Amino acid sequence: MRIVALGTGQPSVRPKQASACWLVELGNGDKFLFDVGSGCHERIAAQKIPYDYLDKVFISHLHVDHYGDLASFWLGGTVMNRLTPLRIWGPTGATPEYGTKYALDLMQKMYVWDVATRMGFVDFRGGALEVHEFPYDSVNNVIYNENGVVVRSVPAIHTIDGAVSFILEWNGLKFVYGGDTFPNKWYVEHAKGADVAIHECFLPPTLLVTKQGFTPSEGLMVGSQAHSSPEQFGKVMSLVKPRLGVGYHFYNDFDTAPEVRDRVRKTYSGPLALALDYMVFNVTKDDIRVRMSAVDEEIWPSPPLKKKNPPDTSKMIPFSDFIRSGALALPKVVGPIFDEVNEKYGTKIEPTWK
Ligand SMILES: [Zn+2]
Ligand SMILES: [Zn+2]
Repeated sequence: MRIVALGTGQPSVRPKQASACWLVELGNGDKFLFDVGSGCHERIAAQKIPYDYLDKVFISHLHVDHYGDLASFWLGGTVMNRLTPLRIWGPTGATPEYGTKYALDLMQKMYVWDVATRMGFVDFRGGALEVHEFPYDSVNNVIYNENGVVVRSVPAIHTIDGAVSFILEWNGLKFVYGGDTFPNKWYVEHAKGADVAIHECFLPPTLLVTKQGFTPSEGLMVGSQAHSSPEQFGKVMSLVKPRLGVGYHFYNDFDTAPEVRDRVRKTYSGPLALALDYMVFNVTKDDIRVRMSAVDEEIWPSPPLKKKNPPDTSKMIPFSDFIRSGALALPKVVGPIFDEVNEKYGTKIEPTWK
């Protein structure tokens, strides 16, 4: 099992840390994304993984820092050579409008113009969404079971009903991903035996006040009641006793990390990593290696895995006469561009604008 941290920061993204996103790669070739928070798409792209492999996304809750890059990943993926539908698992809410299905129905409506522009131009099979909503209050029930990989969900306690954490098991290895949560009994009970247990570890309230301009009340309420402070995170890890406990969801800098670590150590003395973007965890039954990975900033999309179909040009929506009247066809400029391509690839493609 290989785990890559692709978003470890706070809701306000910054160059060093995107918002929540974790990639799990298994030795059987399967890949899973847990949350796709704001800013994580470029980090996903930096992994150089063909998009057809990245077709499974599990959303812990509907805060923007946990699924804010979903639209970019979904629609961007259609021109980054994903030719399979995007499959998304997410919780219900206390009422339908707080559930994942409702949110993603609206997302598709929000991007109706974007979808309309792409359908007639590229093989748009990757634009299909497959949404699996599961009850947020189910405890340790299976929500995914394919290829020897089982994913379960447990409830989380975070701002209102409708947040969850995930447990993935494969080949005798157990990965637990905690979305945002106040310490809760379900995580403690069902994360037990984890090889890697990830759980939020928010900045201490005093740092939220001094470095981020929170009022003391906001610092306490956000940092220790809506989220888990380093001391609370440490206590949860002491109860779970994973082979490796991983804290994330804070600005991990030279001046914050020592204090966060000291506070975690008040309540937890076991194996610990405080995550940064691009940190990689290689997990076997005998060993867990933690190291930072290098990134290619000039990454291009990987070639498609499947043969591309011609776009369905019947889906093209024609311009109005008004917009058509403004086009400068420039045949002497565009003609040679088409000639070059047609000669090189043996095609007979003609310009739309003549
Ligand atoms: Zn949240
Ligand atoms: Zn969050």
